[in-house]
Amino acid sequence: MAKLFFKETYSPLSSDEIIAKEKANMDNKRFKHCVRVSETSRKLAKLNNYDEDKAALAGFVHDYAKQEYRKVIKTQGFDQDLLNWNRSIWHGIVGTYFIKRDLKITDKEILTAVDRHTTGDVKMTTLDKIVFMADFIEPGRDFPGVDEARKITFANLDDGVGFQLAHTLSYLIKDRNKIYPRTFKAYNVWSTKKK
Ligand code: GDP
Ligand code: FE
Ligand code: FE
Repeated sequence: MAKLFFKETYSPLSSDEIIAKEKANMDNKRFKHCVRVSETSRKLAKLNNYDEDKAALAGFVHDYAKQEYRKVIKTQGFDQDLLNWNRSIWHGIVGTYFIKRDLKITDKEILTAVDRHTTGDVKMTTLDKIVFMADFIEPGRDFPGVDEARKITFANLDDGVGFQLAHTLSYLIKDRNKIYPRTFKAYNVWSTKKK
């Protein structure tokens, strides 16, 4: 693993402090996943002419979240409907609060990319797409179709977004899981046939 380093552009904390907080906040398996998402975000940024350092930081922090979800949803101005959902949906959306509070990152683009990383959204910025796709195709992912997902995403980021949303939705529906409305709306925009 290449040594991690984040430029001190987006947080008053040093790169070492951000890495230490991230490591202390999750188990080693998830930490390594975040490192791989960071590296894959960097790669996708390069391919799509986006700021590589910014993408690497957004990818690194994307799964940073604490356990106090319900309290934070109730007191920090989040949509109260979130209380009807679970950790899968909370950790990105509510994660933005912990990233601001603990990692002192205030950049809107980074926070929005974290907010959208699980569900996607109707409108997505380049950074949103980079983190969304890096999370799905990072080298540690191993599910039927991941090689196709990688091929599609490296050829065209938008096609990757469509592929992931269709894949996630069909997997969720097969298991009879509830679909978060934003996931559904994103699917309708990014993954349905154009004609
Ligand atoms: P991870 O945090 O790296 O494991 O990956 P994600 O943040 O992308 O996804 C977390 C979980 O949320 C996965 O198991 C997804 O299948 C699940 N998920 C994504 N969209 C929805 C949704 O609309 N409804 C439900 N119930 N789960 C979802
Ligand atoms: Fe996640
Ligand atoms: Fe993740």
